[in-house]
Amino acid sequence: MKCDIKSFLDAEKPDDYQERLKEEIGALNAKFHMLTAAVNSIGSGFPFSVKDNICVKGVEASASSRILSGYVPPFNATAIERLPKESFAFIGKTKMDEFGLGTFGINCDDHPLNPFDEKRVTGGSSAGSAAATAVIKHHVSIAESTGGSISCPASFCGVVGFTPTYGAVSRYGLIDYANSLDKIGIMSRSAGNIKYVFDLIRGEDPRDSTSVSTEISNRHSKNLIVIDQLMDGIDQRILKSFDRFLSKLQSLGYSIEHRSIPFIEKSIPTYYIISMAEASTNLAKYTGFKYGHKITDFSKGYNDFFSDARDSFGMEAKRRVVLGTFVRSAGLKGRYYEKALRLRSMFIEKLSETLSAGLIISPTMPSLAPKIKDAGSLDPIATYSMDSITIPPNLCGFPHISFPFDYIDGMPVGAQAVSGHFNDYSVIDFAGEWEEQFEYKFNYNAGAL
Ligand code: GLN
Repeated sequence: MKCDIKSFLDAEKPDDYQERLKEEIGALNAKFHMLTAAVNSIGSGFPFSVKDNICVKGVEASASSRILSGYVPPFNATAIERLPKESFAFIGKTKMDEFGLGTFGINCDDHPLNPFDEKRVTGGSSAGSAAATAVIKHHVSIAESTGGSISCPASFCGVVGFTPTYGAVSRYGLIDYANSLDKIGIMSRSAGNIKYVFDLIRGEDPRDSTSVSTEISNRHSKNLIVIDQLMDGIDQRILKSFDRFLSKLQSLGYSIEHRSIPFIEKSIPTYYIISMAEASTNLAKYTGFKYGHKITDFSKGYNDFFSDARDSFGMEAKRRVVLGTFVRSAGLKGRYYEKALRLRSMFIEKLSETLSAGLIISPTMPSLAPKIKDAGSLDPIATYSMDSITIPPNLCGFPHISFPFDYIDGMPVGAQAVSGHFNDYSVIDFAGEWEEQFEYKFNYNAGAL
């Protein structure tokens, strides 16, 4: 499996390498806006960026929200703390949809642009992580997914994006979106780099009681399962190309099986009810007092003070606070929130059964990266529906990976492979095997040695 971390660390680098990398990143950042700010000096280790909702000591972490602007954490997230300082060099925080709320990466100021076509979105919410990976040759990004925020931008930007089993990587130091769904994961240009970093950052952490030390396995059968309902609504060009991809996999010795999962199409409302309920409680702590943007005018009454403070939230954050509060309100929670929890349990059971027979495979997204103007004019329900394929594994906490399998009209197309809990290596190895067969394209190679 390709991994350039060890060879990078061993390589003799030109004297001006760090200076040149910094300049190249600066120029690309001016063009694609993937970083919140590039760092002043880059160390000599393997370059890594960090999604802006993950804490790096002494570096502003705003989760791309105005309400958190100016918040500088005095500590590292566990995933960052576990990267050895002598081998990894921090290059900057990456832009994202505010608090992770979004699918296109456009719910923030000065959003990133897609390195394959600047008129198109990068996908979200780990938008800047995907764009940075697509333009910097030797690089990993520590990103995060709640409902598809790693797979989606990985697919739109033509990179590899891995989301581990829920609990495999500590969430300590992550600015929560929805605690029962958030996972810290990794993006890079190869599955080998991802495996290397995953082994460094995973494992139990006393500071996150949901993290576990469970052994990670690689139960890898040659059976691939296509869930037919997940194919509904996918762009015809992607479906045709996916068929060719499946034929290629068959020629590599894989068998393809088709199955259906009862009510799987209900995973979208199930996910959005649970995630909004949790988001509305998590966002309650941003009141203009303790974190980030402070309100100092105390002349107004209590209600006006809080309205002013919470006006710094973007449109999508406000929408989710209102809907999340609604679905968990005393009289209604049985109709929405509790029903969604029951459905989630059912999906975990049914999909676990299916995953004991092989990996689930599909295109990652139903379309190519949309144009920014088209994405911005979609209504919320149409936007949420874009997550139809990435939601099931995220809702159930299953490990999954997205990797490029074709290019259509110059834009990358990603496939997503899903496996059962703690069988994370099987999807990483599967993507690694594919990389031997298919060459990824990148238009930019900042930091090439
Ligand atoms: N698009 C999904 C949402 O807005 C997923 C985002 C994420 O994984 N953070 O909730």
